[in-house]
Amino acid sequence: MSNLTDLGIAGIRDGVASGEFTATEVATAFNAAVAQANPVLNAYIVTTPDHALAAAAKVDAARAAGETLGAMAGVPIGMKDLFATQGVQTTAASHILEGFVPQYESTVSQKLWDAGAGMLGKLNLDQFAMGSSNESSAFGRVISPWRATGETAPRTPGGSSGGSSAAVAARIAAAATGTDTGGSIRQPAAYTGISGIKPTYGRCSRWGIVAYASSLDQAGAMAHDVTDCAIMLGAMAGFDAKDSTSLDLPVPAWAEGLSDDLRGLKVGIPREYRIDGLNADVAKGWDDGIAWLKDAGADIVDISLPHTKYALATYYIIAPAEASSNLARYDGVRYGLRDLPDGAGLQDMYAATRAAGFGAEVKRRILIGTYVLSAGYYDAYYTQAQKVRALISRDFAQAFEQVDVILTPTAPTSAFVLGAQSDDPLEMYLNDVFSVPASLAGLPSMSVPCGLDRHGLPLGLHLAGRPFDEQGVLNAGLAIERRAAFTAQPTKWW
Ligand code: GLN
Repeated sequence: MSNLTDLGIAGIRDGVASGEFTATEVATAFNAAVAQANPVLNAYIVTTPDHALAAAAKVDAARAAGETLGAMAGVPIGMKDLFATQGVQTTAASHILEGFVPQYESTVSQKLWDAGAGMLGKLNLDQFAMGSSNESSAFGRVISPWRATGETAPRTPGGSSGGSSAAVAARIAAAATGTDTGGSIRQPAAYTGISGIKPTYGRCSRWGIVAYASSLDQAGAMAHDVTDCAIMLGAMAGFDAKDSTSLDLPVPAWAEGLSDDLRGLKVGIPREYRIDGLNADVAKGWDDGIAWLKDAGADIVDISLPHTKYALATYYIIAPAEASSNLARYDGVRYGLRDLPDGAGLQDMYAATRAAGFGAEVKRRILIGTYVLSAGYYDAYYTQAQKVRALISRDFAQAFEQVDVILTPTAPTSAFVLGAQSDDPLEMYLNDVFSVPASLAGLPSMSVPCGLDRHGLPLGLHLAGRPFDEQGVLNAGLAIERRAAFTAQPTKWW
């Protein structure tokens, strides 16, 4: 065995099951890699080597006793620091939750531990999952392991799940959880040359995940490849009575159902996504993807999603509106930070705590959200956005009468240099132009790597499917993966 940290979920699980190596050896190797790399990359806010070792010891004991091993047995993963983890600080990368130690475990993380995974640490993110670059974290930015050819300028790993994407790409987690509200699994996956899937809204329980925009938030898997995504998502998904929007449907055996034989499949190419001035390398990746899917037996169909052009504007009304409501709970009374100036009353405490505890982007969203929900503007903004959201969903519903999956680029560019977009929120918001529509419609969607651009940086392709058809998305992703044969990895400089 060359290097245990080069293995993904399937490789580790199978090697542990066959006795080629122990889960403890795997956890030890990853813990050492984390300790070495994290001071440079800042992917983890806290590391939990003991959690990884304890989970591994349980798996090794279970194997010795001849027990059946879970789908993630012996796999050390990173947990986005938006999932409540019992006894381990959970911050949403905000100062306001610094020091908050949950008394309970989120449903998704519990399912992963039950499947035999162990936790290497809590992964950095954009504060409250608001952002596309990981620069809004109160615990410092994450540095991507990727650099442009011949350059040393630090690049973004994407956001908001940028700790997750950087950790998987740098091989300091075998896989990681992400959450996706408008693109936060798919865009960071694209920027770092890994795969990431956001399932149909409701597949993964939101219970115990710090809420950003509840009608959009979904947990998902970020991993080396499509197979690992299918295995991990299978372990995360399932009905949960504690989440009122949880889907009460059986979880299909996605990993077992994987096939890259796409004969008879219809793939839609939405003409509105060929935006003016589309980056030439991104456009070429898209054309390659079309050719690969054809080669796998699919028919390519030109489709129209006419309301796409309103998707970002709609998202940036609905998401802040929900955020302004969800974040009202951070008031200094119940969680984390309390700033109580001398002689202050209750209102002063709220104001001081929230002023000190929230970062600039979070405050911007709360202000926008409060504004669009205010009595005078509710109909003009919030109600209107809800109507447009319905039209965007209808566009997809009509398209899915003609096609089975929809192929687009994941993001309009490759990873940018950290700082390049931080002064211009609107430019930053454009990162999600291709991923936000599927979020508004609650569709399963994923990003798979398709190649490197002229600067030597990864690009991703985005697949969206019908509600509940994760399998269709995964299979099309597998067809691309097998033909793209993307094996590039960042050259280790850290
Ligand atoms: N970049 C988007 C935002 O800032 C999406 C974030 C996400 O999916 N959590 O809202």
